[in-house]
Amino acid sequence: MAKKGILVDMHYCSGCHACEIACKQENEFGVGLWGIKITEQITEKPDTDRVHFDYIPYFTPLCNLCAERIASGEDTKPACVKHCGTACMKYGDLEELAKEMPEKPRSILYSPR
Ligand code: SF4
Ligand code: SF4
Repeated sequence: MAKKGILVDMHYCSGCHACEIACKQENEFGVGLWGIKITEQITEKPDTDRVHFDYIPYFTPLCNLCAERIASGEDTKPACVKHCGTACMKYGDLEELAKEMPEKPRSILYSPR
């Protein structure tokens, strides 16, 4: 079977944290344990009083791409992908997802070892 992964187009990530919560509920992770974390980067815009927010997803070593959820047939998508607030996450074959990266220059591709 082809190796799977998740592609996140950060350009459309709103920082809603729905992925974090969906993952915690799916995996029943306790306090301080996460499969995915959203970090916030704030950049001051030069010569203005405005700032720019970037939200950067980080998959932790606890993420196994919802292996049990997918294997059981409960769903075809990992919990985080299903509940992403802007549908900027995509689950699929790693090689196919990698081909989309040139069109999504602010994207990250994750696959567990
Ligand atoms: S794929 Fe599953 S385990 Fe990995 S971050 Fe998403 S919800 Fe959590
Ligand atoms: S659910 Fe989607 S839009 Fe919301 S923080 Fe996670 S990756 Fe970003």
